[in-house]
Amino acid sequence: MTARYQADVVIVGGGLAGLATAHELLDRGLRVLVLDRDSEDRLGGLAKRSFGGVMFVDTPQQRKLGINDTPELAWSDWQSFADFGSGDEWPRRWARTYVERSTELIFDWLSGHGISFLPVVNWAERGLFRPGNSVPRWHIAWGTGFAIIESIVGALENHPQRDKLAIVYGHRVERLLVDAGRVTGCAGGLEDDGSDFEARAEHMVLASGGICGGDLSKVRANWFEPWGKPPSTLLNGSHRFADGLLHDEAAKHGATLTHLDKQWHYAAGVHSRTTDSPQDGISLVPPRSALWLDARGRRFEPVPLMGYSDTRWVVEQICRTPEQYSWQVLNWKIAIKELAVSGCDHMTAFRHKRKLELVKQVIFGNKELANRLIDESEDFVVADNMPELMNKMDALSLEGISIDRERMEADIRAYDAQIARGPRYFNDDQLRRIANFRQYKGDRLRTCAFQSIDDPKARPLIGIREFILSRKSLGGLQTDLQSRVLDTSGEPISGLYAVGETAGFGGGGIHGKGSLEGTFLGSCVLTGRLAGRAIAGG
Ligand SMILES: Cc1cc2nc3c(=O)[nH]c(=O)nc-3n(C[C@H](O)[C@H](O)[C@H](O)COP(=O)(O)OP(=O)(O)OC[C@H]3O[C@@H](n4cnc5c(N)ncnc54)[C@H](O)[C@@H]3O)c2cc1C
Repeated sequence: MTARYQADVVIVGGGLAGLATAHELLDRGLRVLVLDRDSEDRLGGLAKRSFGGVMFVDTPQQRKLGINDTPELAWSDWQSFADFGSGDEWPRRWARTYVERSTELIFDWLSGHGISFLPVVNWAERGLFRPGNSVPRWHIAWGTGFAIIESIVGALENHPQRDKLAIVYGHRVERLLVDAGRVTGCAGGLEDDGSDFEARAEHMVLASGGICGGDLSKVRANWFEPWGKPPSTLLNGSHRFADGLLHDEAAKHGATLTHLDKQWHYAAGVHSRTTDSPQDGISLVPPRSALWLDARGRRFEPVPLMGYSDTRWVVEQICRTPEQYSWQVLNWKIAIKELAVSGCDHMTAFRHKRKLELVKQVIFGNKELANRLIDESEDFVVADNMPELMNKMDALSLEGISIDRERMEADIRAYDAQIARGPRYFNDDQLRRIANFRQYKGDRLRTCAFQSIDDPKARPLIGIREFILSRKSLGGLQTDLQSRVLDTSGEPISGLYAVGETAGFGGGGIHGKGSLEGTFLGSCVLTGRLAGRAIAGG
């Protein structure tokens, strides 16, 4: 028998974008049904696993640190990283809305729901060959993305209009229902027994996430052409149901899909026993004092690879090597100071709001995390000396690839020799950039002061085999500023909306080719709230 539902608005997907939309609609008294494929414990989608870094422009935290930020400056930085194309009118408008209204529509809203942000604002994506964030903008939610979801779900549960909200799980939406040119609902099957359901509504909101997870063949099929072919080993760092099913379904009904080849991948993905499937990975925040080597153990040149400057450029450099994976070589001292994971599961002090633990980690290093990663991931090797390290790296090299031992040793010796000569004589670009990073308090706390690699006092040595990890779809369904899905002639499809990653975070690609970071969670709130307002009529 087919289960039937009816509401004013049906939202497909209970991630942050879907939940923000639902909240906005409840505020305006509409009856809302959220349908999600996943189980109840995963309500909140990717945001629940996220680190909870959000980009804002001109916040009290920034002002307290003496950071003078403005929408004009952020807009200039955004355009530089996005490198928008000539037809990117909607992405541009959404991006402009983000930089102009992030404080009002995202920061104030999250703060109003009890989310607080750490006083030290982080400085991600500051740019390398193109300008990135001119100033620190990455605000870390205390309690991570987990706390963001916890508070939004709490706000929905305690909402005065709670009786107008229904959330059902294990419902896989497969089709849109269209009557006389208007989208009037959706249909699909239940995950447990495959039985059918149908939901009817005045308005349908697609909030089902991106295409970068569930089906990596979609990621490969839409691979960014200038990067060559996709790597043979690609890790999934996204949602298991991010399969693009509803992107395709909407396109069948005339929706415009754009920028699917613009994807936000990370360079330091490793396998982990904590994930759901063997092709899932976790994304390391690349330690800045580690040497980044290609799959054969040779340092990248002429410009050394480092994190925090331009993620897309780093990913591109690795994708252009024949082997398409890389190594980072470091030691224990660097690991406990600089290793971090982008995600809340491993960042326990942040996730569980343990202030004292956090302070201890900053002062004495995070030994628990380093040990946990070494223990959990097959991609870590640990050795007492360089020959042993190279043997272990060789043993872990993919078929047909071996470590160039002479070159690797020479690169490490040359780097260490520079450090021994002292900062006055630094010619190495990585060391110069470390010196620059350490000028900012937020980075100084988390970056070693010029730590050599083969330092007997800092052992053991550690090698990390790193793969490209697929995380976010920058493209998606094209939407206008009311989150209405547009057809190929630029007209709204009656009754159909898209928010969050499904909409390329706004307009089918708010980021163009690259993000300033923290803009993903922020855009979910932004697009969801504006969709809710538009549906409710203001
Ligand atoms: C580990 C990690 C760390 C991150 N850290 C950050 C960060 O610090 N800052 C930042 O800005 N971003 C971060 N992100 C990215 C950010 O979390 C996501 O881009 C964002 O949460 C996407 O939200 P969404 O609501 O659009 O989609 P999702 O969270 O993917 O939610 C989609 C929902 O739709 C459901 N669904 C899918 N298909 C169907 C279907 N056919 N029928 C019914 N339901 C369906 C899914 O079950 C899911 O619940 C991180 C992501 C990860 C994984």
